[in-house]
Amino acid sequence: MKLILLGAPGAGKGTVAKLLTAVDGSVQISTGDILRGAVTAGTELGKEAAGYMKRGDLVPDSLIMGIMEARLQESDCEKGFLLDGFPRTIPQAEELTELLKKVDIQLDMAVEIDVPKDIILDRLCTRRTCENPDCQAIYNVKSNPPKVEGICDKCGAKAIQREDETEEAISHRLETYNEKTAPLIDFYKEKGLLLSVPATSSDAVIEAVKKKLNL
Ligand code: ADP
Ligand code: ZN
Repeated sequence: MKLILLGAPGAGKGTVAKLLTAVDGSVQISTGDILRGAVTAGTELGKEAAGYMKRGDLVPDSLIMGIMEARLQESDCEKGFLLDGFPRTIPQAEELTELLKKVDIQLDMAVEIDVPKDIILDRLCTRRTCENPDCQAIYNVKSNPPKVEGICDKCGAKAIQREDETEEAISHRLETYNEKTAPLIDFYKEKGLLLSVPATSSDAVIEAVKKKLNL
């Protein structure tokens, strides 16, 4: 399947993407994971992106488009891909449309994961992320804590609160989402590509996607 996952920070895009990879072997492409990996590795890309990310601002469209143009043409994308965190602005969406046309790839749909704002806020404040760039497993101190506090179950690295998950950065990320990313919902609706799912649970989203694609 070739999907875009839309939704506010904390809506569960990453969790849904991981579950969908198990359905048909499509790959998850998370621009947030790619950028955090670059910051930890200290690459040029990471150095450019770090300041924006820490504040909860979007990194410039040109940086993201460079990453995605290369990534979407890698061979593992042929089976399908789940775009998690991209596109995030109207210019990114327009450029993605052009790029997909150029490389002759047809998108199935954009899935909007719709979660009430109070749930989003609570989730982001209690979220912990594995700091190992090759793992980046996600935990929640209330609903899904690691077995040993502060330690990732999967790889043993530290499970930490992300630098952009302070209360201040979170509210800024939500404002950025409303202003820059929420307009993509109408953008894909007008193209007839939108599936909107009230996300009571990640499993409910998976079922809705499978049903829509007859899987
Ligand atoms: P979230 O939980 O906010 O969805 P992500 O892991 O997707 O977080 O992204 C973390 C940060 O990485 C964002 O706040 C932003 O600074 C940057 N980022 C990720 N994807 C994009 C994108 N498509 N365009 C611009 N910036 C991005
Ligand atoms: Zn880990």
